[in-house]
Parts: sequence; C-alpha cells; structure tokens
Amino acid sequence: MRPWTALYARGPGPDLSVQHPDALALFRAAVARAPTQAAIHYFDATLDYAELDSLSDALALALIEGGVGRGDRVALYLQNVPQFVIGLVASWKAGAIAVSINPMNRERELGLLLGDCKPTAILAHESAYHDVLAKVLPEHPVQTVITTSELDFQTRGDPRLFASSAHHRPVTTLDLLDCIDRYRGEKKPPEVAYAPDDVAMLVYTSGTTGLPKGAMNTHANVAFTAQVYRDWMALPEHAGVLGIAPLFHITGLIGHIALSFLVAGPLTLAYRFEPGVMLDAIAEHRPKFTIGAITALIALMNHPSATASSLQSIDTIYSGGAPVAPAVVEQFEKKFGLYIRNAYGLTETTSPSTVTPRDKRGPVDPDFGALSVGVPTFNTEIRIVDVETAQPVKPGESGEIVIRGPQVVAGYWNKPKETSEAIRDGWLHTGDIGVLDAEGWLYLVDRKKDMINAAGYKVWPREVEDVLYTHPAVREAAVVGVPDEYRGESVKAVVSLKPGASATADEIVEFCKARMAAYKYPRVVEFLPELPKTVTGKILRRELRASKGG
Ligand code: AMP
Repeated sequence: MRPWTALYARGPGPDLSVQHPDALALFRAAVARAPTQAAIHYFDATLDYAELDSLSDALALALIEGGVGRGDRVALYLQNVPQFVIGLVASWKAGAIAVSINPMNRERELGLLLGDCKPTAILAHESAYHDVLAKVLPEHPVQTVITTSELDFQTRGDPRLFASSAHHRPVTTLDLLDCIDRYRGEKKPPEVAYAPDDVAMLVYTSGTTGLPKGAMNTHANVAFTAQVYRDWMALPEHAGVLGIAPLFHITGLIGHIALSFLVAGPLTLAYRFEPGVMLDAIAEHRPKFTIGAITALIALMNHPSATASSLQSIDTIYSGGAPVAPAVVEQFEKKFGLYIRNAYGLTETTSPSTVTPRDKRGPVDPDFGALSVGVPTFNTEIRIVDVETAQPVKPGESGEIVIRGPQVVAGYWNKPKETSEAIRDGWLHTGDIGVLDAEGWLYLVDRKKDMINAAGYKVWPREVEDVLYTHPAVREAAVVGVPDEYRGESVKAVVSLKPGASATADEIVEFCKARMAAYKYPRVVEFLPELPKTVTGKILRRELRASKGG
C-alpha cells in the first residue's frame, strides 16, 4: 500500500526541472539577462545587477587574497544591509560556504558558532566588532576580518534607525569598501563550479540540546526552494521583494535573496525591522511580494501611519516561522485588502516545505481552530508518524511531521550523530506535531515540545537555563514560554536559589541580558523554593508552564 503521503493536487507542480544547478548560477543568470535592472534598494540607494556583480567580484578577490579557498567558511554577521548580499555572492564566487550568523548574537553564542564552523573570514558591522566580535576573536581567531558600516551605501541616515550609528573603523580590521576599491575592475575571480550536493551555506539552528547546529543547505536545496517560491507564489520576472525577515534566517536567505536573483528583481532592504520605516520603504520602492513572521505583519498593521493603501504595491504576502491566528489574517485583510497565506518550513528544509497555494485560502481546522500551513510543495512528501514508533498514523490522526524532498538539508556540519537522528532514510524528523487532512492540507497542532517561539525567534529553554546556572546564586533553573500579547510567547525563568544566597528578579534578568541575544533573555523571573521534578530528576517544564505564578 502507498504510504500516507499528502496529495499533490493543489500547486502549480509537479515540475521536476529545477532551472539552475546551483545558487551562484541563479545570480549569474540575473546578471546576464538584466544587468541594468535594480538588484537592491537600500533607503536612497539602488544597486543594479551589473554593480552587484562587480562589487561581489572585487570582494571575492579580497577574500581569496585573505586566505579563503574552496570549501572554506565565510561568516556573515550582518543585519539586512547590501553588504550581506554582496558578501553572500562573493563567498560563492570565492568557492566558499557562506555562514549566516544572527547579528543579535552575543559573545557566548558567537563563540560557539565560530568554534564550530571555524571560518577563514568574517564580515561584521563595525559596531558589532567593537561590542562583541573583538572579545571573541582571541579565543576563536579568524584570519580575515572585514568590517563595514550600515551607513555605507546610503546617504539618508534615517534617525529612526541610525540615531546611534556612527563610522567607527577598527584599526585592526579591513574595511569592506576599501577591499572592494582595491580589487574593483581589476580582474574576475577564477571560475568556480559547484555540484548540486556541494554545501552553499551553513545556517545555524538551536537543537534540543541548546547547542547550535549548522544546517548544511546545499546548492541544489537553494536552487530548488527559490524556484518553489517563484512558482508557487507566481512571481513575475523583475518582481520586487520586500526584505521583512532577517537575511541571516533561512526565510531571508531564500524567500528574499535567492528569490530576487531567480526573478532578477529588486530586493528592498531596510537595515532592521522598524514598522514605520518599512511602510515608507514599501511606498518608495513598491515591492510586489513579501514573506515574514506574523508579528512583523501585525506591527505593520498596528502602526499609526498605516492606511488602507499602505501595502498597495504588494499583491502577494505570506507568513511563516510561527503560528498564524486566523483572526489576525482577517484583521489584516480588513485593513489592507490583502490575504495572508501561511507557509511552513524549517532551516532544515531550506525554507518552505508546505505552502498555501496562490489561488487558495487556507482552511481552518474545525476542531482546534488552527489555520492550515498549506500543502506540500512540488516533489515533496509529508508523512505523519507516531512519535514513538515512527510508523505512519492513520489519516487524520496527529503525529510527528516528517518530510522528504529536494529541500531537505544534507545534515548538520560536523554532527553525524545529530544528522542520523534527524534524517532517517531521507526523511527529516521535524519534531513538530501535525495533522494532514484528506485533501493534503497540513495543520500544526503543537510544536517541538519545549521550544519557545518569541515573535518568530526560536528560544531553546536549555540554552537560557545553561546561562542561569552560571549565576552564583542560582540552584535550579527552568525556562518556559508564557503567552505574550505582542510576541506570541515570551521567556520566563523559574529558579530556586542556593541556601543563604540572594538575588532579585531584576538582577537575574540583567545577568542574562548581558549574556545572550535580546530575544532570548527571560522577561519574567519567578522564585520557587524547589522546582517540580520527575522521579528521575528531570525538571517538569510543562508543570511550570501551566503554573500561574510570575
Ligand atoms: P526555523 O528553523 O527557525 O525556521 O524554525 C522552524 C520551526 O518553526 C518549525 O519546526 C515550526 O515549529 C515553526 N514554524 C515554521 N513555520 C510555521 C508556521 N507556518 N506555523 C507554525 N509554526 C511554524
């Protein structure tokens, strides 16, 4: 009998022919057919494809001169700035694997990543160099450190975002624009060819252990999912894309950058998400498409300057990465006349694995009220399996979502054990709990047991607990997600103190704040004399989540 997989009846596929063999080819094809077409809008600046080609050629030569060779890693520790895109293309032109790093990461997190992927070069904001990177480099040396400023490539300096930005060039690093000037127009980097299975990028995701794992997204993965976006979202040639999601995240890498290359269209970037700035950027650059976390879309909707025509240029909008409440979709449509479609994927599926087709509205499950996350995209199989036995469950029953298809990553960098646990016979075990209906619509019932989803940012309790345990007064710590009106979920810590020790909630919050990205530190701290545990000594996070305290 055919295993229980979803039907393929609803999308534009199946289309088995992926047009481009690798991610660099996507970019090269855009340069070849549309050299004078805008590639990036960044405030008052526009770079066209020919310029992006020449800038990335020059940076590739600088990277090669800086020691980068085939298969070496180049880390991009950057916000949504043109330099991210230039750095990504330059890494591929230099034969390297790009590593995207969350620019909010602090010393401890950055150290873990650099220690794991050991990059030969890193591109970072000057401010991040001074605040964070310089403190990490003594322990995790990187041969070539290139810094840049978010003030480059634009002259507007919008005070809503750049009030505290200033040029502050470190003496010991190379400046990105200097590197480019030095090599620009000189010559082309040597030709480089990629096989489909070559790794294009490492995108870090926190595993259940809390330690980051570098998902190895191959060139074939990237070429495939870029095409899924274009074809399922029916994006025409030269369509503009709005960069709402962070570029370091898989949504930004594929649904913004790779997609723009594939349609040879302009990508609008605005440094960091600020709803008022984003609304102005939409009015100025008139993008046609975007995908982002639902909280960003809610922020646009609730901004005082938002009007019914604010999103007029956008004809297709998707949300992914976090649960989408049907009520929000309704409110958004009422306000802007735009229906938000839901898509579901993971870093390990190189962005989408299910998408609500362009000409359909996602159904809402009558039993538990969840909006469907779509149907499997072309060439993608989804099964629902028993969490314990990994055997397919009966149609309509819930279980763990497992996915097989051309978007599933090759594994985790340097982590064969975690790879073989997550990917079995080509099936990615997502840890998400879901249901498929008879027509192939997927619904997420629950998510990986303990993950906290704060405005689309994934927080693993264990990682925060590890930091809490380094506080001298903390005896036991457990971290749980609690409902939060704006962020969906927020981080709460429950701690017990060592006998005779004292600490206030504010002190604990400050302690964590200094040691982790802003979205991770606990917003609420509750003290208990003793944390509830199982007989084997495991702290019962679920009980704490249910408790009213804090
Ligand atoms: P990441 O690897 O950061 O993209 O996180 C992937 C996780 O985000 C998935 O395993 C889900 O738990 C969650 N997720 C992704 N898309 C959706 C969605 N449309 N609705 C609810 N949760 C989602």
